Amino acid sequence: MAVLVTGATGFIAQWVLDCLLKENYQVIGTVRSQEKGDKLHKQFGSPSKLSFEIVKDISDTEAFEPLFKKRGKEIDIVLHMASPCHFNTSDYEKDLLIPALNGTKGVLNAIKKYGDVKKVVVTSSYAAITDMVNSADGSLVFTEKDWNPATWERCQTDAVNAYCASKKFAEQAAWEFSKETGVSLTTINPVFVFGPQKFDEDVTSQLNTSNEIINGLIHSKPGDKLEPDYHSAYVDVRDVARAHLVAFQKDTTGERLGLSNGAFNCQSILDILNEKFPQLDNTKGPEPGMGDTKPGAVFDNRHSKEVLAFPFISLEQCVYDTVAQVLKKEGRL
Ligand code: NDP
Repeated sequence: MAVLVTGATGFIAQWVLDCLLKENYQVIGTVRSQEKGDKLHKQFGSPSKLSFEIVKDISDTEAFEPLFKKRGKEIDIVLHMASPCHFNTSDYEKDLLIPALNGTKGVLNAIKKYGDVKKVVVTSSYAAITDMVNSADGSLVFTEKDWNPATWERCQTDAVNAYCASKKFAEQAAWEFSKETGVSLTTINPVFVFGPQKFDEDVTSQLNTSNEIINGLIHSKPGDKLEPDYHSAYVDVRDVARAHLVAFQKDTTGERLGLSNGAFNCQSILDILNEKFPQLDNTKGPEPGMGDTKPGAVFDNRHSKEVLAFPFISLEQCVYDTVAQVLKKEGRL
């Protein structure tokens, strides 16, 4: 039984590879270049159960065809994780919407044409459930049944909105495919994913998009403005990885698994920094805890937590492990 993980170099995907290898699965990862595959293979200790195939750009709807032509019959499970996860563009269609949508359609069409796949898990997002405006509104409650109201035209106001909408359109395409073909689909819909990088050596001055929130706070100084001052929800990357395995190990067909372990805001992260890392001096405002702690919308994911049935990592632990890894790299631990 082989599991295909698209976007294997990603922050979350590397933890998924780790879980899969620990459970002895045969794993095929897609990477954008030979060098990236070689590096990752070495980092995992060159296991024979792990191999890589090159898929250069998922914007091309046929990008997955050579891989499925060659190895489609080996693949039982597809974890589709590759998607742009950044806000560094003003060409929203080219850099966010099209790769997200075409990537999902492309892998699904290749499955239909060449594969014998039993299960598809698509890494979607809380961003497919609500938009940024609503997710900051503390009077609202969302569940796994909700959808971001974005449209293709209206979402292109800024990169954050376009990213959120890209996750909605990609996820919708996956559900349409599942309905049409009968292929078993589960989606994973995490809120902000924090946590350590899989490999210490990959800690650089700039981390992946979601961890940059914590990285920015580590390197902030007293008096700095909290910009943007997030009021949202978090989940640890190691729990997100675990959920990807549960999604195909249990019968979760048709579920949108909402992953959140509760609220965070910048001040709550700073309070952990101030308490656990006295070498940092990040207090914002006159006292720790004086920042804006108003809650964002609630993501009521009790149903998903019941399905997953494992305990989630606390914000304290998640932030501690993330910060400790950065400070270790900087020689400040
Ligand atoms: P990363 O940016 O670390 O990983 C993204 C992966 O997608 C990388 O492997 C990247 O390749 C690949 N990729 C991006 N664009 C293309 C493209 N055009 N062609 C081929 N490959 C591409 O992000 P995360 O690990 O944080 O996110 C993984 C998934 O989880 C995404 O689908 C994201 O939307 C979703 N998600 C993330 C959340 C978070 O807070 N991090 C929250 C909710 C959902 P390369 O490394 O070569 O650039």
